[in-house]
Amino acid sequence: MATAVYPGSFDPVTLGHQDIIERSSKIMEKVIVGVLRNNSKSPLFSVKERVNMLLDVTSHLPNVEVRAFDGLLVDFVRQCRGDVIIRGLRAITDFEYELQLSQTNRVIAPEVDTIFLTTNLKYSYLSSSIVKEIAMYHGDISAFLHPDIAHKVREKMEA
Ligand code: ADP
Repeated sequence: MATAVYPGSFDPVTLGHQDIIERSSKIMEKVIVGVLRNNSKSPLFSVKERVNMLLDVTSHLPNVEVRAFDGLLVDFVRQCRGDVIIRGLRAITDFEYELQLSQTNRVIAPEVDTIFLTTNLKYSYLSSSIVKEIAMYHGDISAFLHPDIAHKVREKMEA
């Protein structure tokens, strides 16, 4: 049984992310969701807001923690005493990037491996950016997000 780190931007957390978190929490002793702070993309939600949203949707999972981090992912994994990194794979396009990322991480931190969970078919098309784009044009986002998160996105777009 291992401690896993699931890193990402989570801007905002989608049902696809939640599915990966729930499935990893069943196979890992502990899952630490790492919210990336210094993102090159300009995020819709602050790190604090993203962490709080993740805390809300994972409150029923006792072995899941949520933390913000910046800097190198492998340094964060070491700080957390993590054994593995969890990433979700949706499509071929994810595969190339994820392969590069995991191989680079293994060179700089050989003791940390990456485990990939394939997306739930229901959410294979889903990404935070698509959700934000739909919300920007006042489309219905209720099929992609937890109701509380969907409410926060709508509020943010109207602000
Ligand atoms: P990043 O900016 O690091 O890609 P994201 O928040 O977009 O951060 O995604 C975090 C992780 O969740 C990545 O491994 C990504 O592939 C995975 N992921 C995102 N959306 C889905 C989904 N719908 N199904 C499965 N995995 C997903």
